[in-house]
Amino acid sequence: LLDAMTDQLGVALERIELQGDLEQALVASEAERLRAALLSSVSHDLRTPLVSIIGAASTLADPALVLPADSRAAMAETIRDEGERLDRYIQNLLDMTRLGHGALVPKRLAVDLREIAGSARHRLRGALRGHQVSVEVPEGLPPVLADPLLIEQVVMNLLDNAAKYAPEGSAITVSGGIRGIEAELAVSDTGPGIPPEARARVFDMFYRVGEGDGQRAGTGLGLAIARGIVEAHGGRIAALPAQADGSGTRIALTLPLANPEAPA
Ligand code: ADP
Repeated sequence: LLDAMTDQLGVALERIELQGDLEQALVASEAERLRAALLSSVSHDLRTPLVSIIGAASTLADPALVLPADSRAAMAETIRDEGERLDRYIQNLLDMTRLGHGALVPKRLAVDLREIAGSARHRLRGALRGHQVSVEVPEGLPPVLADPLLIEQVVMNLLDNAAKYAPEGSAITVSGGIRGIEAELAVSDTGPGIPPEARARVFDMFYRVGEGDGQRAGTGLGLAIARGIVEAHGGRIAALPAQADGSGTRIALTLPLANPEAPA
């Protein structure tokens, strides 16, 4: 009996080891998949703005071309907007690397969300030019405990998405308020919305709704980084419809209040 039991134990142990190997292989292939996706995303997303920049700069630099002043200005704006896009993209990549290593430790300062929203809108004015953006964060909203630059980056990622996916000229709203001992900040648009089954997955790295069917350029990183940053603050982030009829997108995040015991 003892022999039989030892044999069975041996078989069970081997199975466990095999399963361990299998799990390791799965983890390795997932890491491999992410690495491959990252490489192709990086090369594509760095090249697209660079091609615009080089094109506009070459035209401006061509002595044989006499351009009207407004064309020159438009090209200079392209160079600036695309340069800013590259800058945001590289910032997101840096944050993603730091999030992956657990090396992204947010500062804990008392932060005014209205200021952050205004500053994000200002820094993103190039990309937001075709939309009507309003900041409806009440003045005097109690401060949150957060890293201002990181939260500004989250808001910029959300605004950038709203501008990218919602139709030209449509309204984008940044709203804010208090929910118990937390503050809530949300970016809403009147665009196509995110299908219910994709609302959790859009926060996964490289996940894009309707991948491949001629959607807008993007990396699939913006919301993953937004979630990483918000969770590093002890907050949550979620995607919801923006309007009562289920249309539009509202991405809402929570952050801890700096003085939760003070009456709001
Ligand atoms: P991307 O670079 O693709 O925009 P994100 O991580 O920022 O990456 O977003 C993931 C996906 O979620 C997008 O590809 C898009 O399908 C969807 N999405 C994000 N924001 C919006 C929005 N405001 N309206 C509609 N779809 C959105």
